[in-house]
Amino acid sequence: MELYNLSIEELQSLIKSGKAGYSEIAESVFNRIDAVEDRLRAYVTINKEEALSQAKDADNNSGFDKDSALYAIPMAIKDNICTEGVKTTCSSAILQNFVPPYESSVTEKLKAQGYILTGKTNLDEFAMGSSTENSAFGHTRNPWDLERVPGGSSGGSAAAVAAAACIAALGSDTGGSIRQPAAFCGVVGLKPTYGRVSRYGLVAFASSLDQIGPITKCVKDSAILLNAIAGHDMCDSTSADIPVPDFTAVIGKDIKGMKIGIPKEYFIEGIDREVEAAVRSGIKQLESLGAVPVEISLPYTEYAVATYYILATSEASSNLARYDGVRYGMRVDGDDLIDMYMRTREEGFGAEVKRRIILGTYSLSSGYYDAFYKKAQQARTLIKQDFEKAFEEVDAIVTPTTPTPAFKAGEKMEDPLQMYLTDIFTISINLAGVPGITVPCGFTSENLPVGLQIIGNHFDEETILKAAYAYEQSTDWHKRKPEL
Ligand code: GLN
Repeated sequence: MELYNLSIEELQSLIKSGKAGYSEIAESVFNRIDAVEDRLRAYVTINKEEALSQAKDADNNSGFDKDSALYAIPMAIKDNICTEGVKTTCSSAILQNFVPPYESSVTEKLKAQGYILTGKTNLDEFAMGSSTENSAFGHTRNPWDLERVPGGSSGGSAAAVAAAACIAALGSDTGGSIRQPAAFCGVVGLKPTYGRVSRYGLVAFASSLDQIGPITKCVKDSAILLNAIAGHDMCDSTSADIPVPDFTAVIGKDIKGMKIGIPKEYFIEGIDREVEAAVRSGIKQLESLGAVPVEISLPYTEYAVATYYILATSEASSNLARYDGVRYGMRVDGDDLIDMYMRTREEGFGAEVKRRIILGTYSLSSGYYDAFYKKAQQARTLIKQDFEKAFEEVDAIVTPTTPTPAFKAGEKMEDPLQMYLTDIFTISINLAGVPGITVPCGFTSENLPVGLQIIGNHFDEETILKAAYAYEQSTDWHKRKPEL
């Protein structure tokens, strides 16, 4: 087995037993990147030189705590998470030369453990999209079929993990951007509870929904990585000041008697038949492990997409006001100040970002605010209450992660609504603020991966990690690798 194909846990045990050195691991990963990146285009920036010299330092003992879980593990970071001294573009022309003067809290924590940054991964511009096609720096491809999209917006991170062009990665998820690409690429993606992980240094898209989380080859790595990034942070007032358990402690515990809710609204017309079949057999598998399925209803699901696209665009229109050519990134000079603002934003933003700024500005305008923004906030409360009611009855909720497998590049670019509908099963989870994980649960006849989503109650990542691990270990889906 090549080193690049291994998980965090497997690498740690090789290191401990002296069977692999830090440079050997880093070189293996960069050789892999060299071999596949031309076809994949998962990265916006590759951090090879620095990473290899860091690995060499590790070989010579750089004074870090070598027992830390992520010591010298080569990991990729989505390019909307600030890395001090390393370009952070959000895959936008407006930030194409932006080098953050500070480190995000999550990467600060990874640094404290001595992780190695392989590079910054491609995304839909400012994380707006579901295919990584809305990037100013080219499309990322799906490693299972290069004609298809890897999903989005964390498509670069998911493709890199699936193709073993890094050992693990971080993504961000506002309406599904970790889980949907993880499902499309056949890897594990976890969106933590809103507030579990600090957003400090994550470039804001929709601040009440954004959350950073791990994209990994297996469930145990997801728990290891969540351990590393979770916790209260003075720099993010929305991060929760509650204790963080050891998420790896639940790994391997059985799920006998766990009540899993199956919401009828998630098995609707329009869902791909092979996806549905794979998810239904995943539920059977959970049942055979001792879980008890319970049919439940989340009646406000039908309003989720509309609610999300009003709230997310409203927040985005406000958050993106800061890119005015004065404070950040690119500037296009004009005849006067207003003209400079307009030219900068006209040239700096792509079509989807502009569409969202316009939609959001409209929803927030006086005269429309009550009809759109306020109504959407009310609908969000109802969606949240759906989950609260469900969790009075069940321990977790199981659904498909996406209604279809990965679609072809270009297929949905002309029709934003079709693109928005690909997030129909992930968006409510962000609106409710609860955690969700996707694990591979099968393949279609065209050899495309399918994801099973397990949703938990607020701050109960432990239950979904436990269920996901038990499921994963009872199947072989996670062992399949794309041929590249
Ligand atoms: N695809 C969704 C959107 O375009 C979600 C994106 C995300 O989670 N960042 O808004």
